[in-house]
Amino acid sequence: MKSPTQTHAIDFDSAKLQRLGFGQQSPLVQRTISLGQLRQQLGLQLQTSLEPQRILGLFFREIQRLVPLHALSYEHQASDLRLEFGQRGHHCVSYSLSHEGEHLGELVFRRNQRFSEEELASLESLLSCLLYPMRNALLYRAATQSALRDPLTGTGNRIAMDQTLQREIDMARRHLQPLSLLMLDIDHFKRVNDSHGHNAGDKVLKAVAAAIKGQLRNVDMVFRFGGEEFLILLSNTSREAAALVGERLRHAAQAQDYRADTVPIELTVSLGCSTLLPGESAESLIRRADSALYVAKREGRNRLAMAG
Ligand code: GH3
Ligand code: MG
Ligand code: MG
Repeated sequence: MKSPTQTHAIDFDSAKLQRLGFGQQSPLVQRTISLGQLRQQLGLQLQTSLEPQRILGLFFREIQRLVPLHALSYEHQASDLRLEFGQRGHHCVSYSLSHEGEHLGELVFRRNQRFSEEELASLESLLSCLLYPMRNALLYRAATQSALRDPLTGTGNRIAMDQTLQREIDMARRHLQPLSLLMLDIDHFKRVNDSHGHNAGDKVLKAVAAAIKGQLRNVDMVFRFGGEEFLILLSNTSREAAALVGERLRHAAQAQDYRADTVPIELTVSLGCSTLLPGESAESLIRRADSALYVAKREGRNRLAMAG
């Protein structure tokens, strides 16, 4: 069934917003709060957080005092952010938010009854309360994200890895799910630098990271562990399933087309795999993957070895 959709674009800079909303209230609708009052309250409330989840959660809850809704969803692709509040509804109205040419995301309001013109005008007026809080939250998110990422390869850095690994270990324990870890190291990478230069080496590193990410559903689980070593966390993945993923990564890394200028470079990787044991620490899990990687190197490289 096709849902009726009303699509709008909001440019926070257009003067239109200032005109909307005020002095348009229908006497037929019983209101507990005026649009002006709600805007004022929202303005104060939304400033109290830098978390998109909390800001939009508050917004969703508070605007219902004026415009009843079933759901609100938000998406900002550039920061890899997707949030949903409430249940689905048949009718939806969507807004693309921007400010001074900067895209601030897409908002979709849903409910089972069609939105009236007056309600749309109220929603549009209330949206302006989101401008500064959301812009600040997105800037904050971008800043914290860059602090957690390796700039060369775009994978997570050591700080991100420590945080994520501990979180995943706790989750695995709580939900009694397996957790596996792959440690991947490029074979004879020193030769790439020696033969083609450090710049070519950097490009190869980027390409290996891209090959790994291309094979995984959750790219947030790939971390640059050392110079030319990557760590891949596989949540809810058994030893056997992790071995299959490891082999897939090995093939993908080998199949990638690496070049220094136009000269093709042959490249392989070795991997070690460990699966969380009852009561095991993060350090021990990493150490066992590293030992397995060492075995893979010793046995001739371009292979995967499983921790005992
Ligand atoms: P193996 O198969 O035993 O892993 O051999 P390898 O040559 O890959 O291992 P080794 O640890 O001896 O050398 C790793 C090299 O990776 C050394 C260093 O010059 C290079 N390397 C580390 N980080 C970077 C980087 O960010 N960029 C570039 N271009 N090279 C790096
Ligand atoms: Mg190494
Ligand atoms: Mg190496």
